[in-house]
Amino acid sequence: MKNEKVTDSEFRQDPISGDWVLFAPLRGAGHNFKGRAKMELAKSKCPFENPAKSGNKPPVLVYQDKNKNDWFLQIIPNKHPAIGPELGSHEVVIYRDHERHLADFTKEEIKMVLSAFQERYKSLAQKRNIEYISIFHNHGKEAGSTMAHPHSQILALPILPPYINRSINASQRYFQEHNKCTHCEMLNKELKEKKRVVYQNDNMVVITPFASRAEFELAILPKNHSAHFEKIKEPELSALADALKVALSKIYKKLKDPAFNFFIHTAPVAKNSSHGYYHWHMEIMPKFDIVGGFELSTGLDIVTVYPEEAAEIFRK
Ligand SMILES: [Zn+2]
Ligand SMILES: [Zn+2]
Repeated sequence: MKNEKVTDSEFRQDPISGDWVLFAPLRGAGHNFKGRAKMELAKSKCPFENPAKSGNKPPVLVYQDKNKNDWFLQIIPNKHPAIGPELGSHEVVIYRDHERHLADFTKEEIKMVLSAFQERYKSLAQKRNIEYISIFHNHGKEAGSTMAHPHSQILALPILPPYINRSINASQRYFQEHNKCTHCEMLNKELKEKKRVVYQNDNMVVITPFASRAEFELAILPKNHSAHFEKIKEPELSALADALKVALSKIYKKLKDPAFNFFIHTAPVAKNSSHGYYHWHMEIMPKFDIVGGFELSTGLDIVTVYPEEAAEIFRK
């Protein structure tokens, strides 16, 4: 009995959002990774093979593939934007290959993707009345993707979305009270304890967050404090490309290609503040389940895998 694995439920509170998560491990049940639902879309019918021909507006940014006589990525205004040009903008980052998983991109290619995000961010931040720029990627139907062809999205918003607002306020409050960054403190602790560290290089750390909102959630944080993703340069950009490739590959291989979302949390578009107390980061959330009545009625997420166990599986 002494060596029996602890599988009791536990409540954990996110130190930044204040949200509670209920960890309720599946007793005795092994992990059953089924992969994502495949989305059928013939290449011949795919509007992203030749966006201009499919009636899209001209791209706002194109990166060429140096090795082929072709484009590598292009960013176009969304044909059916969630936010129109009078309020903000909604752009689609299209990758050339119809089927290639982002985990199969080389580090150099991922770096190009990140550079494109930065370039568009800086340009959109110049627009009037933009408060926040959201950069995210949906992979698979379960993660909200409606188009099989790999793509990311960039939304420029005239308001500060609630999650960002809360995270910014909490970071600011912590900084005012302790004269320290809450993310830096957390990161130091994680690097000492190592239980939830999945990977690190000179500049980036990949962890399974203490109060993960989903099974096998990953976060990538820069080791050096910085509020703005869009401002990072070498060597951090290469380090982020390396960390993101490792994170995506681990999700692809260890969890058998599930659907996932990733997104970048960076400081709001600077108006009067540099938001120096904030610590930008990336989050990657695999999608396995559909949210049920309990979660909807209570706002309490139930997570069936402890982050420490997830980290162990990822590290193996
Ligand atoms: Zn396609
Ligand atoms: Zn920090």
